[in-house]
Amino acid sequence: VDTHVIDGTALSRRLRSDLAARAAALAGRGVRPGLAAIEVGEHPASRVYVRNKLKACAEVGLHSEHVALPDTIPEPELLARIRALNEDPRVHGILVQLPLPKRLAAERVLQAVAPAKDVDGFHPLNAGLLATGHPRFVPCTPAAVMAILEAEGVNPWARHAVVVGASNIVGKPAALLLLQRGATVTLCNSKTKDLADHTARADILVVAVGKPRLVTGAMVKPGAVVIDVGINRLPDGKLVGDCDFPSLLGVASRATPVPGGVGPMTIAMLLANTIHAAELAAEGRTPGQAGEALLQVQRA
Ligand code: NAD
Repeated sequence: VDTHVIDGTALSRRLRSDLAARAAALAGRGVRPGLAAIEVGEHPASRVYVRNKLKACAEVGLHSEHVALPDTIPEPELLARIRALNEDPRVHGILVQLPLPKRLAAERVLQAVAPAKDVDGFHPLNAGLLATGHPRFVPCTPAAVMAILEAEGVNPWARHAVVVGASNIVGKPAALLLLQRGATVTLCNSKTKDLADHTARADILVVAVGKPRLVTGAMVKPGAVVIDVGINRLPDGKLVGDCDFPSLLGVASRATPVPGGVGPMTIAMLLANTIHAAELAAEGRTPGQAGEALLQVQRA
């Protein structure tokens, strides 16, 4: 097999030019899509992620705000800041960069974000809409996985998809999206026995664990499509995924590298969700109430 290395950077560039056009169309109607990124405390990786997200906003013409809050901020004050952004008409999307300091209840903080502005898709309402087959704001990383498959012409319909890792942020929503696209899905997690028995049966293999070289070419079915979501920094400073990439070559039909695979597409999905939120707002379809939001989806 001659493995095609998927170029996530090139795919995201293409997508971003479409997004810039959508943002410009909205601006022509007097709506400039806006994103607020909330960062609590100092976390070196978060700093880089937030900076990259804000830079990407500027590139496609979105308004963005960096809400940098002190590590010591009391939870009620943080919740009040989020509520103020919920009411701010310049802001269509709000994200809370994770991880939050341990003393804060992350679930409570994420639930304070208005579902209609929840461009990370972490609010239980949006998670529920996805689980019941009416996705509205899909978490950006699994959305990136699906966008890559689509751009590569890989149709999950009636294929066996194996997702390794079952977090709420990546693995679980990725499994739901693959299921909705007609795949038969196996969802592996830390308790899974004989992981290789599962991965070897995958036509589409998505790996999102956070362990370098967890999956090697010997665990992959020849011709499978492998999407590596993992980002791991080795002691020597090198960034690698969860797959031993060199060993996939000659086995997988297509595979994403790390870096340059899922990462750039994830940011593009955040921009897409923010523009989508602004489009809904411009059409007067931004309900403040969770219940209203559900009704709108059912009517759509
Ligand atoms: P997480 O720690 O929340 O979840 C890891 C999951 O892997 C859990 O469900 C756990 O049960 C499972 N797991 C652990 N060990 C396992 C094993 N040996 N076999 C099978 N499953 C196992 O992590 P996360 O937030 O889902 O992130 C996963 C990876 O993806 C991390 O490396 C993270 O940095 C990366 N990530 C990348 C992007 C991106 O934009 N590319 C975005 C988010 C996360």
